Amino acid sequence: MTTATRLQHKVAWVTGAAQGIGLACAEALAGEGARVLLTDIATDKLNTATGQLKAKGLEVAALRVDVGDKASVEAAVAHAVERWGRLDIAVANAGIVHACDFLDIEEADFDRVLRVNLKGVFLTGQAAARQMVQQTPDADGERGVIINMSSVNAVLAIPSIVSYVTAKGGVAQLTKAEALALIDKGIRVNAIGPGSVATEVFASVANNPEKRRAVLSRTPIGRAGEPQEIGRVCVFLASKDASYMVGQTIYPDGGRLALNYTVPVSEAS
Ligand code: NAD
Repeated sequence: MTTATRLQHKVAWVTGAAQGIGLACAEALAGEGARVLLTDIATDKLNTATGQLKAKGLEVAALRVDVGDKASVEAAVAHAVERWGRLDIAVANAGIVHACDFLDIEEADFDRVLRVNLKGVFLTGQAAARQMVQQTPDADGERGVIINMSSVNAVLAIPSIVSYVTAKGGVAQLTKAEALALIDKGIRVNAIGPGSVATEVFASVANNPEKRRAVLSRTPIGRAGEPQEIGRVCVFLASKDASYMVGQTIYPDGGRLALNYTVPVSEAS
């Protein structure tokens, strides 16, 4: 049984929730008393993860949803509403990375990353908001909360992942525009922009000493973040503790954006 209750009676939906940051957000929301729909395209992992949360006494459900497919996204909202009667919190978390030299990027790969990381965030937010606007506002006039998963790469560029940084930059602006469009309807929209977090993506970095040194050399706290550290920011934004947060991106990044770091300079320059 849960003891924390900041989100009791709330219904939440997290995309890309089969593992990593999405799963940590789902667990953190459920740990505060929310009923949580976890969605992902990786159904086996999704079902395993959801089973593990249920075994901890959390009230969760799973559904296969592709965030780039409007009908699939709308089915997720319908599922949450059918099961629990409403939708209060949507976390647009699903994301993919494609690393490639700029000159070699294929159009299909660029489209694939934008489809999940930018269009998916839009479709998730729009479908959630269309449900939330129909709901009776609470005593504070709030009808729902939307949280978009951005990245420090919304503002820091890396040339080997052009489609990713382009999409995340878009998420920062989408978050602001969406927040302005929805705040008078009682829906708060914000984003989280993590630095390096120890998920599956990071494992390849962690196992490569050179890459690991490169990441840590620009991470003042001296370690990667844990997914649970992002989950706690997600709970904050979803809760009344963040009642005056609108259109913001919060960066849990271990100090990365505060750092004016140096790059190697050749002796000749
Ligand atoms: P992850 O790869 O561990 O998890 C992403 C999940 O999204 C996977 O379960 C995957 O199956 C799912 N997914 C992929 N395409 C999908 C689609 N079309 N529809 C639905 N689900 C889909 O990644 P993560 O590290 O947990 O990252 C989660 C989010 O956090 C992403 O948006 C990522 O860009 C962002 N982020 C991660 C880091 C980091 O260091 N890990 C840093 C900054 C931002």
